[in-house]
Amino acid sequence: MILDVATADLAMAEDRLGSFHETAWFFRNALEEARRSWDRLRAEFGSSTLEAGLAEPPVAVLTLGNGSGRERRVNLILIGGKTYQAERLAPTELATSLWRLVRLPVVDDGGYYLGRLRDGSAHCDCADWIYQAAESNRPTACKHLVALEALEWL
Ligand SMILES: [Zn+2]
Repeated sequence: MILDVATADLAMAEDRLGSFHETAWFFRNALEEARRSWDRLRAEFGSSTLEAGLAEPPVAVLTLGNGSGRERRVNLILIGGKTYQAERLAPTELATSLWRLVRLPVVDDGGYYLGRLRDGSAHCDCADWIYQAAESNRPTACKHLVALEALEWL
């Protein structure tokens, strides 16, 4: 998660201030430090142990910002080794719980919408869940649904 946040920070700083601005240099150094830390973890625990840990549902939420003034509150969670910004949306007539997940650093997939309908079923619009739903009328939960259920957000 720290690697993804550091990568996003550097990309934003380079985009807004240029590659040689002192803020970009700061975030470039932060990203390198995060990479070195990750390499130390991999050396200490082994790649297979780290990959197994990353495949587990999230147990923690990293909240950035306090939501006051112009500062937004952002909740980051780790799903399958990828960092997602999790945003709770207002319930609708059909859904009691509705979420939007956006990858960090941002990718062009537009993110995913998922939630629990009033009939108790959980839905996601990721390719994995849609494929399963096309094959079965009772699709198993995708990694996004498993993650939000583990956090008791659905
Ligand atoms: Zn999904």
